Amino acid sequence: MSQQRYDYLIVGSGLFGAVFAYKAKQAGKQVLVIDKRPHLGGNVACNNIADINVHQYGAHIFHTSNREVWDFVNSFVPFNRYTNSPLANYKGKLFNLPFNMNTFYALWGISRPEEAQAKIEQERKEAGITEARNLEEQAVSLVGKTIYELLIKGYTEKQWGRSCNTLPAFIIKRLPVRFTFDNNYFDDDYQGIPKGGYNKLIDGLLADIETKTDMDFLEKQDYCESIADQIVYTGRIDEFYAYCYGALEYRSLRFETHTLDCANYQGNAVVNYTDRETPYTRIIEHKHFEAGNQPQTVITKEYPLEWEKGAEPFYPINNESNMRIYARYQQLAEHEKNVIFGGRLGEYRYYDMDEVIEKALLAWSRTECHAYGSFISGRRVS
Ligand code: UDP
Repeated sequence: MSQQRYDYLIVGSGLFGAVFAYKAKQAGKQVLVIDKRPHLGGNVACNNIADINVHQYGAHIFHTSNREVWDFVNSFVPFNRYTNSPLANYKGKLFNLPFNMNTFYALWGISRPEEAQAKIEQERKEAGITEARNLEEQAVSLVGKTIYELLIKGYTEKQWGRSCNTLPAFIIKRLPVRFTFDNNYFDDDYQGIPKGGYNKLIDGLLADIETKTDMDFLEKQDYCESIADQIVYTGRIDEFYAYCYGALEYRSLRFETHTLDCANYQGNAVVNYTDRETPYTRIIEHKHFEAGNQPQTVITKEYPLEWEKGAEPFYPINNESNMRIYARYQQLAEHEKNVIFGGRLGEYRYYDMDEVIEKALLAWSRTECHAYGSFISGRRVS
């Protein structure tokens, strides 16, 4: 029997791969999705423990201001109204995040926005930063030294394993600063968790698509390339090119998950531990993502780790030296005729889920335009 050929072989079944696969399948293409893990869904995959959807690769909270993306994901599974309002625990004292009037009140007993603005302005002035060149300077110029010391420095240095003055400023710009009593972590128009967990989203995207788990592209590269016209690669770009320009750095995580015989452990889905001494950065209590009322609860402690071979690369470290290396890989990628790179690892970008979906939709429409363009020019020639 001859080997089936595919229009697209999609390497990695996370959001980029699954969205691209869905669009290609809808357009009538032959698609195969492979994943080296034993399950589909990449890092959004959930694990059911004690009837609770456990985010097995860390908390995934969907938020977007892109209506098209929001409607797209909701067409597979309705999303609930979960609003992320994490707490920060600094040496036993709790503060609201993101930085807002509740935080300033707990810190300084200040209840009016004007007073909080003046306090932060004074701390900013004392720091004398004119242009923020790194995360530390960016943080101090956004929220002043006190908040930086209590709620940012320890957490960030644990999370990234690097000093704040060597990290890129953009990381801290992910967090809003507000002079209202609003604990919503995100500024986006839409936010929520798929009702019944993320596996429903992945199942919807990959329904009727051929998939193979436990299949490592790089171990079977010749075979994989021989069965498909186009490859969509969502693994690490440096690994794809056999580290020819050197390895890119990533940050990894270790998760310690416990099932507890109590109904409610911490009263919130996310509690960050912002001191330097606590070895984990946060504790996730998964049932609160879906307002669960199961008799037990499942919590996960998240320990940051430096990435090394065999570990999962969760966060790209987008500092200058890594970005220089990445630019060289990107040049190679731009010359590929049959390979599209996408996702956090394929593009070495600290993407949120909605951005990954946007990029996958864009990649698909570009591919389609390109195919249509060659079809038109082919007709002109003939
Ligand atoms: N951050 C912090 N204190 C906190 C939470 C976040 O200093 O309590 C900083 C930290 O540098 C982190 C960045 O903000 O890497 C982005 O946080 P976010 O919650 O967006 O990260 P993610 O959920 O992607 O890990």
